[in-house]
Amino acid sequence: MKLNSVSYHIVVAGGAGFIGSNLCGRLLKDGHRVLCIDDLSTGSIKNLDPLMEHEAFSFMKNNVIEPIRIEQDVDLIYNLASPASPPMYQQDPVRTFMTNVWGSFNLLELARRKDARILLASTSEVYGDPLVSPQSETYWGNVNPNGLRSCYDEGKRAAETLFCDYQREYNVDTRIVRIFNTYGPNMRYDDGRVVSNFITQALTGRRLTMYGDGAQTRAFLYVDDLVEGLVRVMGDDVPHTPINLGNPHEMSVNELATMIRELLGADIELEFDSLPSDDPRRRCPDITTATDLLGGWVPSVCLEEGLARTIDYFKKVI
Ligand code: UDP
Repeated sequence: MKLNSVSYHIVVAGGAGFIGSNLCGRLLKDGHRVLCIDDLSTGSIKNLDPLMEHEAFSFMKNNVIEPIRIEQDVDLIYNLASPASPPMYQQDPVRTFMTNVWGSFNLLELARRKDARILLASTSEVYGDPLVSPQSETYWGNVNPNGLRSCYDEGKRAAETLFCDYQREYNVDTRIVRIFNTYGPNMRYDDGRVVSNFITQALTGRRLTMYGDGAQTRAFLYVDDLVEGLVRVMGDDVPHTPINLGNPHEMSVNELATMIRELLGADIELEFDSLPSDDPRRRCPDITTATDLLGGWVPSVCLEEGLARTIDYFKKVI
């Protein structure tokens, strides 16, 4: 399918969340009509406040586990509907799994009915605790199928399966991105992720909670760079196979803490806690595929700059 119009009818499922709301804002700026679907379980209507007045924006409160009935045309669907931080997705693991699997099924059926292109926001968690680093899309992962993180990891892996089979069996025009750790404005201050925890703790005079010895690694992508990647993946002539989107600059959680202390106060102390179960020891994307297929896409916002912008945001909301 080739898209010729310049203004699309776009559904963003999970559009009230951190990434979804940033994506909705960008799509409106680009001149599209956006219908945001969200059950507001982890997303927030506050994230949508700046968009609500826009005549091309509409909001539907709905959990994607329920069938989705939409009268109007739909050209593109982004499926970002799922809790995404480990503490949040573990709160109701059955619902997390079903949101990813049944929600993907409902949205794929919608794409099939409307002849729409559809993107799955998958995750670096499909690689589990990887035995190779950096992780490229050809790596099948090292995932515990029945641990505390499995509801999300296996939910996303099953969603990838559904997307691939809808493409092969029904010729639905699918895209899959595997999103690595991302941060920026509209993150929940209480979502329990490392960036939001450290910044909130530093701003409120508390110690930074370091899980394990802090030697585990992650790589952090600023949300605007992710959104640019998501928009490009929805272009014509992008393959149906998974594409990593992340920052290839790998660092330890200790190094992140040091950077946040440099930005917010060197006297901020650390508090050590145990490492959560199945916490991956390393995570770092190989982004060669994204760079090759998406017009040279690479992250453009460095961590110091992205953290400074995120700190400004948190100062306003906490
Ligand atoms: N982490 C930490 N302190 C916190 C929150 C997280 O040390 O307050 C660690 C966590 O154990 C993991 C890394 O930071 O090793 C990233 O955790 P996050 O929850 O942001 O996401 P993940 O990459 O594990 O999905």
